[in-house]
Amino acid sequence: MNTESKSQHQIASMKTIGILGGMSSQATAEYYHLINTGINQICGGWNAAELLICSVNFANIESFVRGDRWEDAAKYLVSKAIQLEVGGADFIVMATNTMHRVAPQIEASIQIPLIHIVDVTAEEIEKHGMNKVGVLGTKPVMEAEFYRDRFYQHGIDAIAPNSQQSEIIDTIIFDELVFGTIKDESRAIYVDIMKDLIERGAQGIVLGCTEIEMLVKPQDIELKLFDTTTLHCQKAINLALSIEAISSKFAKNII
Ligand code: GLU
Repeated sequence: MNTESKSQHQIASMKTIGILGGMSSQATAEYYHLINTGINQICGGWNAAELLICSVNFANIESFVRGDRWEDAAKYLVSKAIQLEVGGADFIVMATNTMHRVAPQIEASIQIPLIHIVDVTAEEIEKHGMNKVGVLGTKPVMEAEFYRDRFYQHGIDAIAPNSQQSEIIDTIIFDELVFGTIKDESRAIYVDIMKDLIERGAQGIVLGCTEIEMLVKPQDIELKLFDTTTLHCQKAINLALSIEAISSKFAKNII
């Protein structure tokens, strides 16, 4: 677009997005890029997102997750969500699936909405008329009830890889993806596990970790992928531009 046509665009009025990130910084960078690109595609000109990022220390998160220290995780993330609220965010997207385990404690501590990543993903699965999906993510996402139960509330059965496969998926996330390391052999392992889930009856696959979209792209496999990072960012864009209203479908605290 040349300067002349760009300048014909109006400055878009938008809500301030709060990104609770750093889990990992790789995923947060993807959120920042996808949200800004998406807003510019819709609004044109020099329009970009109005947003705040509160990026946490991933060493704390790793220790909470692997040490099963969910109360400590809740306390830490509640304090960061409050910083976003006080800073002027109109709503929050938490750029991780795993840490949605403490979403109820965060929602109870802030007045602005927290846009739940599972609700956004479930909405897209429903649009495709599916009710059984495979989930790849960290061990808590694949094994703990908080994630599966939230899908179940939408009438969706979320099935997990077996424990040996889960161990490998989790290791690749923590040892490679959160450092931005992308390996062909890891992609091949993920694709094999996805195929296995499809054989077990999954109609599509949820990339239930915000770094997986860096490793596995839709062209790598002929399956319907539900990428939580892209879907969550798309929802943030729509809400920021008031293309969609925030409803109780996505968040408890409505603005
Ligand atoms: N970003 C990841 C997720 O979506 C994993 C890292 C973490 O937050 O534990 O779950």
